[in-house]
Amino acid sequence: MRSADPLIVGAGPAGCAAAIALARAGARPLLLDRSAEVGDPLCGGFMSWRTLAQLEGLGVRLADLGGHRVDQLRLFAKGREARVPLPQPALGLSRHALDSRMRETALATGARLEVDTIRTLAPGMAKGQRQDWQAESLFLATGKHDVRGQSRPRASAKPALGLRLRLPSEPTREALLDGAIELHLFDGGYVGIVLQEGGSANICMAVRKSALAASNGDPAALVERLGEDNPSLAARLGSDWRDARIESIGAVPYGHIARQTEAGIFRLGDQAAVIPSLAGEGMAIAVASGALAARHWLDGGAAAAPVFQREFASRASRPIRLASIGWRLVESHLGSRAALALAGIAPGIVRQFAEMARIPPPASLARR
Ligand SMILES: Cc1cc2nc3c(=O)[nH]c(=O)nc-3n(C[C@H](O)[C@H](O)[C@H](O)COP(=O)(O)OP(=O)(O)OC[C@H]3O[C@@H](n4cnc5c(N)ncnc54)[C@H](O)[C@@H]3O)c2cc1C
Repeated sequence: MRSADPLIVGAGPAGCAAAIALARAGARPLLLDRSAEVGDPLCGGFMSWRTLAQLEGLGVRLADLGGHRVDQLRLFAKGREARVPLPQPALGLSRHALDSRMRETALATGARLEVDTIRTLAPGMAKGQRQDWQAESLFLATGKHDVRGQSRPRASAKPALGLRLRLPSEPTREALLDGAIELHLFDGGYVGIVLQEGGSANICMAVRKSALAASNGDPAALVERLGEDNPSLAARLGSDWRDARIESIGAVPYGHIARQTEAGIFRLGDQAAVIPSLAGEGMAIAVASGALAARHWLDGGAAAAPVFQREFASRASRPIRLASIGWRLVESHLGSRAALALAGIAPGIVRQFAEMARIPPPASLARR
């Protein structure tokens, strides 16, 4: 099937943001996803104020989804704790709730959805498991998953992976976590915890492979060890964490930025830029890239892809650089102590840092 409207591969936040922006401008994009059902991707589930503002600009309603309001960042390391008010309120919301709402909004706005798993992608052609799809303009929004022909480089000397467990609502845990995003720092990673709709706790960590290897490569042994070393974390984990399934994703290419592309291929979301997850800005990057790509396509069609990619890379550079510095700092023994000390004596600096590690919104989504 050949399409004049863009073919968007991946109906996650980036693909859906592009679909909504295109459909609102009168185009009829086709979203392709490997799954008919919306899943619950591994993610910290922290939606920054910038993510929320952009989604509002796209007309994605979240108010009725029961997310948990977050006003404060709490840092924990080596038995110490520091509290920093966030520059603006954020939200804890499951990816299942967010992704479902974004898909619904895209379809209600005029986008179409087909189910297929794309195996290979080249200019003009996405080869799927079901069929081949031809389109002059392809938006690559497969997120964490690379597609043959378009893989991102993974040459990190210190590969990182993501782990996640979700714990049910429990009064003691809810009271401890109320209103906060918590980052529990340890050598080689961090554990991020936020409450989500219904009071469940999303516990997500980014960890260097070497730190996991120190626990024999066993995620449960790592969590057990972290709880023994950090009583505050143990209090949040309770005892029911042992009943929870620990999900994982490997080799996250933190710091990757796609600075160029071929005409006709717009790279969005994690395929465009991967910010270290402790910044909690990956979803804002996904939404911003989708909206900006839509704007460029509406103005210049398939030929505008390289210009879009350069502009987006330059917008994403500063937040990714700052988040990478922050991640390198807090994953080391001395760095995490220094971060806690700084947050204690000069919370304004940490707050400013948190603000600067945000993606500037495209003009179409900036608050008027
Ligand atoms: C450990 C960790 C914690 C994080 N925590 C946060 C956080 O708290 N806050 C935040 O803002 N960001 C966070 N992020 C980042 C965030 O999860 C991503 O940046 C975001 O999901 C990117 O959105 P996306 O639309 O690009 O990709 P995805 O969300 O990965 O969506 C991709 C879509 O493409 C589909 N797809 C994949 N392959 C194919 C294929 N071959 N064919 C067809 N369809 C396909 C998938 O089914 C999916 O629907 C975290 C990341 C990690 C690793």
